[in-house]
Amino acid sequence: MLQFCTFCKIVSGELSSNTVYQDEKAFAFIDIRPVNLGHTLLVSKDHYENIFDVPDAILAHLGKTLKTISTAIKAATGAEGINIEMNNERAAGQIINHIHFHIVPRFSGDGLQHWPGKLYSEGELKEIAEKIRKSL
Ligand code: ZN
Repeated sequence: MLQFCTFCKIVSGELSSNTVYQDEKAFAFIDIRPVNLGHTLLVSKDHYENIFDVPDAILAHLGKTLKTISTAIKAATGAEGINIEMNNERAAGQIINHIHFHIVPRFSGDGLQHWPGKLYSEGELKEIAEKIRKSL
């Protein structure tokens, strides 16, 4: 547990939350500022910052738990779809530096929009694909 981390405090019970699920590694609670009603956050019980430092086994467990919770949210809210979102580091919009996934129920006509798509210039797509392959 990290002393000044909001999500560590929620996991420990120092801060209250509307918990919907927990097991030995994962903890899920309702986001108090929902994109849509039922918007839930899934976090690891132990403190990791994001995708870059979380151990593979914890990430795998969170991935499996995403399915369980998404299925429950869909049933509970009557959602027609679910978005799963994860922000990693400040430039990507991460505000709380404790790994978390947003699970957002979606409805036709709810007004939310997908992020815009850009276009590649000549040769750019192959170049970035090659850079990524070489970084693996
Ligand atoms: Zn934390």
